[in-house]
Amino acid sequence: MDNDSKYLTFLKKEKVSADAYSFYFAKPEGFEYLPGQYIRIVLEQPINDGRGNMRFFTLTSSPTENNLIITTRIIQSSFKKNLVSLYEGAKVAYQGPYGNFVFDPRNKRPRVYLAGGIGVTPFRSMALYARDKNITNISMTIIASFSLSDDIIYMDEFKNLKEKLNNFDYIVTVTKPELSKLSWDGETGRIDAEKIKKYVSNISGSYYFIAGPSVMVSALSEVLKTLNIDRENIKTENFPGY
Ligand SMILES: Cc1cc2nc3c(=O)[nH]c(=O)nc-3n(C[C@H](O)[C@H](O)[C@H](O)COP(=O)(O)OP(=O)(O)OC[C@H]3O[C@@H](n4cnc5c(N)ncnc54)[C@H](O)[C@@H]3O)c2cc1C
Repeated sequence: MDNDSKYLTFLKKEKVSADAYSFYFAKPEGFEYLPGQYIRIVLEQPINDGRGNMRFFTLTSSPTENNLIITTRIIQSSFKKNLVSLYEGAKVAYQGPYGNFVFDPRNKRPRVYLAGGIGVTPFRSMALYARDKNITNISMTIIASFSLSDDIIYMDEFKNLKEKLNNFDYIVTVTKPELSKLSWDGETGRIDAEKIKKYVSNISGSYYFIAGPSVMVSALSEVLKTLNIDRENIKTENFPGY
């Protein structure tokens, strides 16, 4: 880390699915960001897998919340092992915020948020922001696909949100229910045109956001093409490494 680095103070982590955690950091004085933006985190602990000591993470917290929160799956890398070993009060260097995959309330089109697994992180920020700012005239439908029911995140939190916001919905589909440990009786299979038609009432008038692994983002962009959605009404964010 150099003298120009900015630092976050780690507060705590919470397990949110079989292998995912939310990491809480104190929000630095004067730190401002838009719902959906991301930061780069740099860890100084030794890396023994040659895969680097920096990763980008979406701020899944809403700017209206007191802390900064990221949510990630702890798989594979030394970086992730170091992240999960952080102790309370540890300092981590960061850069950002970055990105224009953001919620802009001036655009009143209904939002359809399509997420591949952990790609649901920016949509938590956007939905909680809308709740806290009392933005009730923009509907938000999140359709998220997870491989296993064990991987689903934010279910309880979004259930509560649904009770408070009458124009919010969280639909989850599981692609490998047969391999899941937790039982699942909801939607199954990938997000496809049929599911979008089933849950989105204003298909042509909506504004679409797609986030997740690159393969999934490309596949869903193709699905939206078959529904004749204009490119200008689609925003995408690729999460590499999944
Ligand atoms: C805009 C954006 C937002 C993201 N938001 C999230 C989020 O909210 N939650 C989340 O879990 N993930 C998010 N990601 C993905 C995240 O940055 C990681 O790629 C992912 O979590 C997998 O990390 P890993 O360490 O498990 O996998 P790995 O496969 O070890 O690493 C994945 C990525 O690390 C980098 N990397 C690998 N090797 C090297 C190397 N030798 N030197 C330098 N860099 C290397 C590459 O960018 C690679 O794609 C986001 C990515 C982007 C770009």
